[in-house]
Amino acid sequence: MMKLNLPTYQNVIEAEKNIKGIAHTTPVLTSTYLNQKLNNEIFFKCENFQKTGAFKFRGALNALKKLSEQQKKIGVVAFSGGNHAQGVALAARLLNIPATIVMPIDAPKTKIDATKEYGANIIFFDRYKESREKIANELVNQRGAALIPSADHPDVIAGQGTIVKELIDSVGNLDAIFVPVGSGGVLAGTLLTVKKLLPNCEVYGIEPEAGNDGQQSLKEGKIIRIDVPNTIADGAQTQYLGEHCFSIIKNYMSEIDTVQDSELIESMKFFTERLKIVVEPTGCLGLAGFLKNQSKFKNKKIGIIITGGNVDIEKYGMLLE
Ligand SMILES: *Cc1c(COP(=O)(O)O)cnc(C)c1O
Repeated sequence: MMKLNLPTYQNVIEAEKNIKGIAHTTPVLTSTYLNQKLNNEIFFKCENFQKTGAFKFRGALNALKKLSEQQKKIGVVAFSGGNHAQGVALAARLLNIPATIVMPIDAPKTKIDATKEYGANIIFFDRYKESREKIANELVNQRGAALIPSADHPDVIAGQGTIVKELIDSVGNLDAIFVPVGSGGVLAGTLLTVKKLLPNCEVYGIEPEAGNDGQQSLKEGKIIRIDVPNTIADGAQTQYLGEHCFSIIKNYMSEIDTVQDSELIESMKFFTERLKIVVEPTGCLGLAGFLKNQSKFKNKKIGIIITGGNVDIEKYGMLLE
């Protein structure tokens, strides 16, 4: 196997400097109702309020900032169902870098429209028939553009590590942190930071049950690939963990847990009714995972990463009904 260039906590600190003043320091919300009901102190880190409505802007911005001047001139390519597309598109616009995004034709309309608005060139593909990697790689080879993966890249992982860095800076010690898992970038970045700053804090990665490739991969000790999972969590409709992500995850983690779509909907309702915030299904994985495991926690300080809030209004209404 090729030797991977894995990011460290030091890279998270560098990323924090790279994105400072451009990415938002997102708010941390609490619910007195939930704290009293569950007898814990729960802190929600709200990346649904990040620029573009999801955390992926952090990793994309860090990765784009670190490109050579030559690469910045030629441009970047990304393949993404949505939030990474928007993250790369906006970061590219802010840094004056041409961007081409390869998107599935059935991606949420809000995500397609936003990516267009940020000025990126979009190429559509059928995610059930065509390989997005193949299409993107052809673009990279033809044009010499830099491919920016949504997770499997040291600079992207380091960028995502800044989320929990901010959370710890603002609330201090935590006993456990719950993080959604798709390709594993935000989980890997979280682990780099948490294992350095709070070595005793437990980190839970949470996947949709239909797409439990990460859980299987940890159990088997190697990356397991699955078919495109059928879940409302479109940000976690991933088929396998990134190699860099998995290397970090397997070093630090013993378990990834899963939740059903119905549990994601319960969490969505809670966010709407109690916190008055819009969270997309994938962004609900952390809370749903905590609620599933909450009997293990009493009088604990819990961090939950809300990863994004981009959901078509019709779909949102349908899910809440
Ligand atoms: C991408 C994404 C995830 C999963 O992140 P990975 O780094 O791929 O594991 C979770 N939630 C939202 C909202 C996302 O956009």
